[in-house]
Amino acid sequence: MRKTLVLSIDSGCWEYLDPLLAAGRMPNVARLLDRGARGILESTMPPITPVAFSSFITGVNPGKHGVFDWSLHHGDGTRGMVNAAALRAVPFWTYLNHKGIRVGLFNVPLTYPPRPLDGFVVPGIPVPHTARRLTYPPEVLNQLEDRFGPYRVDVDRGLLNEGIDAYLQAWIKYEAVQTEAALMLMEMYAVDLLVLNYASLDRVNHFAPEMESIEQVLSNIDAQIGRFLERYPDANYILMSDHGSRRVRTAFLLGPWLVQHGYAAYGEYSLDIPPYEVNFALARYLRGRGMQGTEERFVRGVLRLLLRMAPAPLRRRFWESAYRSVPGALAYRFTERLDWARTKVFATSNSGPLLINTGMGNGRGAVSPGEYERVRESLIRDLLAVRDPQGRPVFSRVYRREEIYHGPALASGPDVIADHYESDCDVVVDNKPGQFCFLDRLGRFGDHTRRGILVVSGPDFVQRPPVNPAHASILDLPATLLHLYGVPVPQEWDGQVLRGLLAPPLAERGVVRVKTAALDGGTGEKGYSADEEAQVMEHLRDLGYL
Ligand SMILES: [Zn+2]
Repeated sequence: MRKTLVLSIDSGCWEYLDPLLAAGRMPNVARLLDRGARGILESTMPPITPVAFSSFITGVNPGKHGVFDWSLHHGDGTRGMVNAAALRAVPFWTYLNHKGIRVGLFNVPLTYPPRPLDGFVVPGIPVPHTARRLTYPPEVLNQLEDRFGPYRVDVDRGLLNEGIDAYLQAWIKYEAVQTEAALMLMEMYAVDLLVLNYASLDRVNHFAPEMESIEQVLSNIDAQIGRFLERYPDANYILMSDHGSRRVRTAFLLGPWLVQHGYAAYGEYSLDIPPYEVNFALARYLRGRGMQGTEERFVRGVLRLLLRMAPAPLRRRFWESAYRSVPGALAYRFTERLDWARTKVFATSNSGPLLINTGMGNGRGAVSPGEYERVRESLIRDLLAVRDPQGRPVFSRVYRREEIYHGPALASGPDVIADHYESDCDVVVDNKPGQFCFLDRLGRFGDHTRRGILVVSGPDFVQRPPVNPAHASILDLPATLLHLYGVPVPQEWDGQVLRGLLAPPLAERGVVRVKTAALDGGTGEKGYSADEEAQVMEHLRDLGYL
């Protein structure tokens, strides 16, 4: 059976790749392009990793798979963190497995906790760092570590404290290991289709001030692609990204804006610091007291340990005194600080989804069904009027959920989705003490766009098609992969087979659509323990996603 390699450059965009291709710094992608076709791969709204990959994995829009953001909002008003168990639709590889096609997944987001499949899984983020059963089958982790040493998901962002170069070098080494490990596992598990996601560009785009850093990780990814081309010169290749990238100049502080415009109100600081917040609150407290560098990290580590062991009253006493000496220590937490009786609208991530309070905080102050549309309308109007310091709109479009999603999970989606992905601004929800709405940087220099990349190359694909597939959607990829292997496409899927990119005879073969159990309502499992959930939240906050 012909092999297919789906290689994803998380955050990849032509705006970054084209200058490197022109300069000869991505020779392996150039080889793929020489005998293939390219286009823009349109991402989901919001164009963020969990939503885009969930759509890629399931072939359906968020209204059907149920993942709208990094956070999940449960019916009882509580919040959880997204993971593979939250998906309410069947992954595309299930259909390939049914026809005997073996699939390997390496570093693909939203594949933890790993579910059994014919092939192997080494998951991508989000993954709790103490996860014991990281891979499927479980022995994959040993096979990987026996050869390459200890393996963890994602590179420690703490390395940025040692400078951008330490962080870059760690990614470059890490992705070389991921490549060799994926090649090894492909052979061990006789995989026909591999999906591998390289995550370095996404992180480096967020945190690196200079384009040179971006160019370094991209040229390293190109070298990794070269390793696959060496080993599998006759395979089909799909190079994709879950969304594109752009550089940002300022940050728009959505939380304070909601408060200033009467949509939300702050209550008292709570001294019950949630576990995922402890590390950040301690860092703010210690830095507020003038501590820095190694000393700060050491003291923070000791305090974290002590606080974990301390009884609750002692913990409160500690935070009380920390708050008195450095009030800013607790001040960043937007959602935890809200007075629900006076809050109509809130957000739990920096991605754009907004929620109308229809029952938080025991329902006090909740927006009534009669009020709901009025609140939504005025919120949309006010968001569209926001201008950045240069006078340009921050939000190019603001959507009602039913305008962009459809399906049985729609009601668990956000009420409004604000699109800042065309602007020069990053959006940050949390409050930053002493700052107004606009401020420089926040240590973040890049964000996403909806315009990802697509390259198809290999025996089953056309060479230089007459028309570029300008409007391919990430939802089209799973449908195209099934068609590539002669597997009927589930009727409920929202994407199309990209027949224009296929070579004969595949291009002429009619697309078979079948009724399936594509929407299975999910497993109903939580996926994380409470402790793991806190770890994931902490990791995502550290990356600046929440
Ligand atoms: Zn991504």
